[in-house]
Amino acid sequence: MYAPPPGEQAGPLPRPVPWRRRPTTGRTRLRHGEGLREHLRLGRKGLAIGIDIGGTKVAAGVVDAEGRILNEARRSTPGTDPRAVEQVIVELVEELGRGHRIWSVGIGAAGWMDLDGGTVLFSPHLAWRNEPLRKNLQNLLRRPVLLANDADAAAWAEWRFGAGQGEARLVCITLGTGIGGAMVMDGRVERGRFGVAGEFGHQIIMPGGHRCECGNRGCWEQYASGNALGREARILARANSPVAQDLLAAVGGNTDTITGAIVTELALAGDAASRELIDEVGEWLGLGLANLAAALDPGLFVIGGGLCSAGDLLVEPARKAFARNLTGRGFRPAAGIQLAALGPNAGLIGAADLSRVSSRVRA
Ligand SMILES: [Zn+2]
Repeated sequence: MYAPPPGEQAGPLPRPVPWRRRPTTGRTRLRHGEGLREHLRLGRKGLAIGIDIGGTKVAAGVVDAEGRILNEARRSTPGTDPRAVEQVIVELVEELGRGHRIWSVGIGAAGWMDLDGGTVLFSPHLAWRNEPLRKNLQNLLRRPVLLANDADAAAWAEWRFGAGQGEARLVCITLGTGIGGAMVMDGRVERGRFGVAGEFGHQIIMPGGHRCECGNRGCWEQYASGNALGREARILARANSPVAQDLLAAVGGNTDTITGAIVTELALAGDAASRELIDEVGEWLGLGLANLAAALDPGLFVIGGGLCSAGDLLVEPARKAFARNLTGRGFRPAAGIQLAALGPNAGLIGAADLSRVSSRVRA
């Protein structure tokens, strides 16, 4: 039961509002997800450009209202200078916008955006700190612009067009160098009170374990990511274990060059040691998902990111570990665990679609 702290009056609890609507007179800015109904009501079929800014490359595409990419372009990420990144965005929009009527532009990047999708609070790969990126870009592009966390964008895309369609309580996990996390709950990207929810990769799963770049030790992403797979494979190879023969041969004995991607390739080709390494990562994945299910009770986990090319080699051990560690197992329905459907373009598709459904609409 809800009880007020001593000395405070008990008052009525706020009524739940399933879908917060804003007045539709004048120009109204809608928050992530809120615009979807409006968008459907208006039947807007406009095109949007999605831009996914990674640490090494910028991928962009023209995306239609069904999530199809009509045209694509790529650039290298031009260092960390915010002005240089803005310039690349402007160039990509100009290039891709030729011959299309573009309604809005969505930008997905690693980092934290404010709740309005206008300011980048922090981005790990870029020098954005409290950067009012939307204002700058709207002035340059003369179109509505929305900023989204890359994992949020990918989750939105999977919910709208991919493996998460129809799921009211969806959690998406992106396994790359680290772990990206995002939730789409009741048709909205759930971003927490301050817009920084979903940092599942930094749940501490092994106190005192491997050091994480966030500063803590034992974070989940140190055990269930592409980087973790590469690290464990290097340790195995350097131990000169005979089971690592094929792994060593694949890199010509240069253990420094072993990556998660190489291990995945070897595993898919049948190498037993690489399969064992992926099996271990899958078990860590399932354990972390069980923790998330205890907290969030989703209907479905969608697993995306580069590591997913391992397919069932990764997901089967994750499902087993999830079933073994789920709290209340046997007495509760359990969430499904599915591979993502949209591949590496999920981020740009989701950023484009979020910008279309969440940006300024005219009443
Ligand atoms: Zn961490």
